[in-house]
Amino acid sequence: MMQEKNWGTNAINTWCPGCGNFAILNSIKSVLKSLVADNILAENIVLVSGIGCGAKIVDYINANSVYSIHGRVLPVAEGIKLANPQMKVIGLAGDGDTYGEGMEHLVFAAKRNIDITMIVHNNRVYGLTTGQYTPTSPLGYKGRSTPQGSKETPINPLEIMLASGASFISRGTSTTMELLKKLMREAIMHKGFALVDILQVCVTFFNMYEYYNKNVYELAGHDPADYGKAMQRIREWNYSNTDAKIPLGVFYKKEIPTFEEYYLHLGKETERSQKIHKILENTI
Ligand code: SF4
Repeated sequence: MMQEKNWGTNAINTWCPGCGNFAILNSIKSVLKSLVADNILAENIVLVSGIGCGAKIVDYINANSVYSIHGRVLPVAEGIKLANPQMKVIGLAGDGDTYGEGMEHLVFAAKRNIDITMIVHNNRVYGLTTGQYTPTSPLGYKGRSTPQGSKETPINPLEIMLASGASFISRGTSTTMELLKKLMREAIMHKGFALVDILQVCVTFFNMYEYYNKNVYELAGHDPADYGKAMQRIREWNYSNTDAKIPLGVFYKKEIPTFEEYYLHLGKETERSQKIHKILENTI
């Protein structure tokens, strides 16, 4: 009998006790296990991380992985995908990494619809460097670089992703693991650029356990193929700390040709992309 793969490593975990990253680690390990059980070869999966507390996740997973530099997870991931389109390429990085330094790469990856999954540990703070504000910190956030409170309103990364052309957009939290596993798996299996934004609790510099537990709810009866409705649902919460409820789930999902399909066919349309273009012509 073949021995089951052990996804753990011997690396000493340096996250703070109670950090939301533990839930993300356990969820992704469980999803990887399920992919292999479904006959996806472990050697055809690669994780790419950046720099930050969340990025350390690849130290704790026994899988092919690459540490890239801050803000550059996606260019590295895209290079891997184009060199070997068979690979399931999964990016894992924090909000500062992805929505700050990495924003231009995120927009282009979405616009290209390259078949990569980007999992964002969005704790809305730079944790590794001890608590500076990020693009998703709320107005008034008090940290190392904003002791009087941030004077800026946060960005809504899901809105930017929808406007940029991402074909799968979702949000989970580190407090709802079953949903998180479902979203990660669906994102990885989606053919095209997929974003999983995870509201990850940083217990040390921005403890939002109570706030998220009180305000999150799971989308029901939402049609993720409807662009207008997706934008409406995405705009229900703008990453500020108001009493607005926070929807979780898949906001948008559409099958459109991927970058590597165009790239590998050197501009020639495949039968599949012709079919999809026809559908798009009739829906946009
Ligand atoms: Fe987690 Fe925050 Fe500690 Fe970093 S600083 S390990 S994000 S709790």
